[in-house]
Amino acid sequence: MTLKCDKCNKDAIIYQKYSGMHLCRKHFTDDVERKIKLTIRKHYSIKRNETIAVGLSGGKDSSTTLYILHKIFGMRPDIRLVGISIDEGIEGYRPQTIESAKQLTDELGIELIVRSFMEEYDRTMDEIAPMKREKGACSYCGVLRKSLLNKTALEIGATRLAIGHNLDDEAQTILLNHLKGDVSRMVRLAPPKELEGLVLRMKPLRQIPEKEVALYAYLHDLPLGFGGCPYSHEAMRKEIRVLLNDFEVKHPGTKYALLSGFDKISGILGREFPQEGLSECSICGQACTADVCQACKLLGRSK
Ligand code: SF4
Repeated sequence: MTLKCDKCNKDAIIYQKYSGMHLCRKHFTDDVERKIKLTIRKHYSIKRNETIAVGLSGGKDSSTTLYILHKIFGMRPDIRLVGISIDEGIEGYRPQTIESAKQLTDELGIELIVRSFMEEYDRTMDEIAPMKREKGACSYCGVLRKSLLNKTALEIGATRLAIGHNLDDEAQTILLNHLKGDVSRMVRLAPPKELEGLVLRMKPLRQIPEKEVALYAYLHDLPLGFGGCPYSHEAMRKEIRVLLNDFEVKHPGTKYALLSGFDKISGILGREFPQEGLSECSICGQACTADVCQACKLLGRSK
């Protein structure tokens, strides 16, 4: 027997255990888009004449982010959307996802800027990864990519930088920071305030479970690059992912509870542990809290 949508009695395509709702294609789409609009209204009030850059890897999360932002803001002549893809130089993985990013931006008529580690840092992740086994490639790649994304967003005059973190990513990060006792990272996770030299970040998908992002991308036929990065190795995050998924099955709504609990205390955290002001990196000029930014330290650059 096919289960019916609780809103219109058409065939349901999903059961949301956390809400107790069966939803058809249309009402699932409406539900995802409604949550994203609410998130944007609540955390990132978009003003007139903004430029929103979207960090576009070509995977399901960032592609869905761009697609929905285009749906929401595409008709606004005062809002400019731009995709930024970072090519870290990972053979067999990144070229396919960048191809998907190109296809999506072409279909939507959105400008895409592709920047690479090679042109910026004079080396690729394929060259860096074998030398950085002890800490794992991701800790290097993440810092370098964030830095290049922010730099590129600043260069094009972006007022926002949207990234595709979904509910699972957010819940995992909150729990990870708790387990590591890392309060400063916790503060940085809160919806951002203006800091000179950093483009304001926004995470429109933070209320959407990963599985629903994947379903939305599939239903809307978004071109996606598949396959995993060969260097992906965040052992502790993987454990937390498994743990949270297990909890979610036994106690539906756990991920939402973690996020909403965090949102309730993030203001207090921000006041108790104010973020340091930013200065300019003395080597590359990017915003940072120390004399030399994290990216330059990792690259071993010196003055
Ligand atoms: Fe970079 Fe790690 Fe992501 Fe691969 S999995 S692209 S190394 S951050």
